[in-house]
Amino acid sequence: MTKIPHRLYLTEDQMPKQWYNLRADMKEQPDPIINPATMRPAVEEDLYPVFCKKLAHQEMDAQTRFVDIPEPVQEMYKIYRPSPLIRAYELERALDTPARIYYKFEGNNTSGSHKLNSAIAQAYYAKEQGLTSLTTETGAGQWGTALSEACCYFDIPLTVYMVKVSYEQKPFRKSVMHTFDANVIASPSETTEVGRRILAENPKTTGSLGCAISEAVEKAVTTKGCRYVLGSVLNQVLLHQSIIGLESQTAMEILGEYPDIIIGCAGGGSNLGGLIAPFMRDKLTGKANPRIIAVEPASCPSFTRGKYAYDFCDTGKITPMARMYTLGCGFIPSANHAGGLRYHGMSPILSKLYHDGYMEAVSVEQTSVFEAATYFAKHETILPAPESAHAIRAAIDEALKCKESGESKTILFGLTGTGYFDMTAYASYQEGHMQDYIPTDEELQKGFDSLPHIPDIQ
Ligand SMILES: *Cc1c(COP(=O)(O)O)cnc(C)c1O
Repeated sequence: MTKIPHRLYLTEDQMPKQWYNLRADMKEQPDPIINPATMRPAVEEDLYPVFCKKLAHQEMDAQTRFVDIPEPVQEMYKIYRPSPLIRAYELERALDTPARIYYKFEGNNTSGSHKLNSAIAQAYYAKEQGLTSLTTETGAGQWGTALSEACCYFDIPLTVYMVKVSYEQKPFRKSVMHTFDANVIASPSETTEVGRRILAENPKTTGSLGCAISEAVEKAVTTKGCRYVLGSVLNQVLLHQSIIGLESQTAMEILGEYPDIIIGCAGGGSNLGGLIAPFMRDKLTGKANPRIIAVEPASCPSFTRGKYAYDFCDTGKITPMARMYTLGCGFIPSANHAGGLRYHGMSPILSKLYHDGYMEAVSVEQTSVFEAATYFAKHETILPAPESAHAIRAAIDEALKCKESGESKTILFGLTGTGYFDMTAYASYQEGHMQDYIPTDEELQKGFDSLPHIPDIQ
């Protein structure tokens, strides 16, 4: 057997030149998205006012198995990719487990997360269509940062509506976005009608993701040559993120390895969907049968306690409705330090696969997540993002089960990013102030009550 290095980097020539569209191999498709204006399944053209055309096409295209990655996108990928597949030798030793643990590290770029993989594609297609500006929202700031980098590279102006509380609490995130020339606006703001209305009703509000989405969409549809972009959940985003899984699979092939268990954190599902894509293909086609585990916060348990129902993708109820595991678009998650996992819904593709029994899900509490993050940092010397640490927690738990049973399983997990902007959270854990919060059934019911009523469907 090949001697397995600590870090395997593919060469540039070995990088994928096509993304993989998981829907092409699904036996049953996710249910169609519904246009709230007509209450009928949406068609590609319905999406044109909000998304650029190529992306609207990718959103609806369930047939094309492999999609060429445009040359300019490949060029920008090469600035920070291929990302390493790392053998966690030190973690294995510390745990004294017979399991072989690998992780795919996506934090090696300034935005600090995998989100850049889709930001680049979305900025490129917008530029190609001749659009003159883009808008988006950002909560914790990772998506806004990634898109700022991509828009700066392709020279397309970007306005980011940043939830006011993050705008004030994470000033350095804002400075990174400014470095890449983004226009960052604290939301709610005076720049949109919906923002002015919310401010008039509640001048002291610190904002919410739902409100920031509403502002960004309003700005896009009322500005000539402007469109809106979203960093997770959508089918197109999972397509772009398949580069994570494709690189992982090539790297594992080189090492003569194949994962028995694949683990990823799940917020809107984009990194997990990307990581598992080619392995799920093997599972769907009967070539292999790895276990696939989604890990979510106990405070925002879309898979493990949510309903499989049609819902809006935003709190403002302006986006199309998708059938997914959801806590209800009116669900307000408690403060949790993994900001990137505080989303009420889940990718419709992953929701369908989970519903049909192709994957599992677990929820974990944040103090045990930070315990895992700290343990991992000490042994592997990478300071993980709190979101990524959810996957670490589950990987450690699986490795400990191997220790008990004496089985030498191969575990692959996604390390989506670094945690340098989350040191307040680490400090709170270290000082013993961190609390775990699990919503009661009554609290979840309030979210379910906000699910839309759709004639003849639900
Ligand atoms: C945004 C984010 C996530 C969660 O988003 P997904 O779309 O579920 O992948 C996970 N990790 C990091 C570091 C993030 O920034």
